[in-house]
Amino acid sequence: MSKKTVRDIALAGQRVLMRADFNVPLQAGVITDDTRIRAALPTIQYILAQGASLVLMSHLGRPKGKVKPELSLKPVAQRLSELLGQPVKLAPESVGDEIEAVAAALKPGAVLLLENTRFHAGDKKNDPEYARQLAQLGEIFVNDAFGTAHRAHASTVGVTEYLPAVSGFLIEKEIEFLGRATGNPERPYIVLLGGAKVSGKIGVINNLLGKADKILIGGGMANTFFKAQGLEVGDSLVENDALETASALVAEAGDKLVLPVDVVVADAFANDATYKTVAINKVAPGWRILDIGEATIAAYQKILKTARTVVWNGPLGVFELANFAKSTFTIAKSLAELDAVTIIGGGDSAAAVKIAGVKTQMSHVSTGGGASLAYLEGQALPGLEALDELVN
Ligand code: ADP
Ligand code: MG
Repeated sequence: MSKKTVRDIALAGQRVLMRADFNVPLQAGVITDDTRIRAALPTIQYILAQGASLVLMSHLGRPKGKVKPELSLKPVAQRLSELLGQPVKLAPESVGDEIEAVAAALKPGAVLLLENTRFHAGDKKNDPEYARQLAQLGEIFVNDAFGTAHRAHASTVGVTEYLPAVSGFLIEKEIEFLGRATGNPERPYIVLLGGAKVSGKIGVINNLLGKADKILIGGGMANTFFKAQGLEVGDSLVENDALETASALVAEAGDKLVLPVDVVVADAFANDATYKTVAINKVAPGWRILDIGEATIAAYQKILKTARTVVWNGPLGVFELANFAKSTFTIAKSLAELDAVTIIGGGDSAAAVKIAGVKTQMSHVSTGGGASLAYLEGQALPGLEALDELVN
């Protein structure tokens, strides 16, 4: 990445406007997972240590341009204050004269958090006037919101029209690791792909097919490949309008694309359903595939053992149901033992490695679901593109 980072700009005495991704899960006003807040801490602490004051902004949930009190960033301000060990004041708004006065009065080392930027329709519309108002609140713009880097919004892209714009450490780290996946990874390079649907991952397969040594398929998306090969899939989740694409991919990929040889089938989509493991040509009508089988797990483990780089996106079974979580958690634990760079992309996959208790043993677990997928598809991320170029 030839983009400037917070390291490439003088921050002392400056007022920094930073876009973070504080879009955390909430249950009845309580944060159930503060990973995204913690992920922003290195950049926040660096900025403050340089003697700058800090105005933070983020969206939370989908308020659709209206003020929704239940989507206030108040719980985030509180949690952030605890994590930083200093007060974090929540502004009642994200723009306006009053907020400008509060921001202008900030002393070096002080932190202000703006209220949810998506309370304004102008954020998602990348409205230049809303972007200009946000830009009034700082002298330097830092983007560390990897989770929204695939969106051109006022708070991610619009503001860069008005201020010097650099990335934070989280975006830098995400690009460093995801960049290996799409760039020049150490070989053998194995991609593990699962998840519910093949349609959402076709872009990833197309982009990584030329780069990976093997692409191992699991999850619901495998079903569409099975059906495309004329196999019986019973009541499994299948995308009938993706059958041709699946056939074309198999033809193009040859033995680079590896499909399961056995699967766990159930008589209903429920944890208390009757289930059994069968060879892939023994799926009977009325049954549905909810996990990959033990022979496949063993085959995939064997291939993974040779890897120097692994990218994993998409659970290999319905891991939310204990009886169909085996392959996902077993493979997660296998990845933890590899002597390889292990990169996890996708919201559910990140959740799976966390539940498996091996998150800290991965080289990188992306904080951005949609953004990591877009990056793996080879798309340019507008939030990254808009940042200032590093000139040597
Ligand atoms: P990620 O968020 O990591 O990109 P996806 O959103 O693509 O992953 O897919 C995750 C979902 O895929 C999970 O909810 C999981 O239950 C589902 N899934 C995995 N295997 C199957 C299957 N065989 N049948 C139906 N759904 C599946
Ligand atoms: Mg998902």
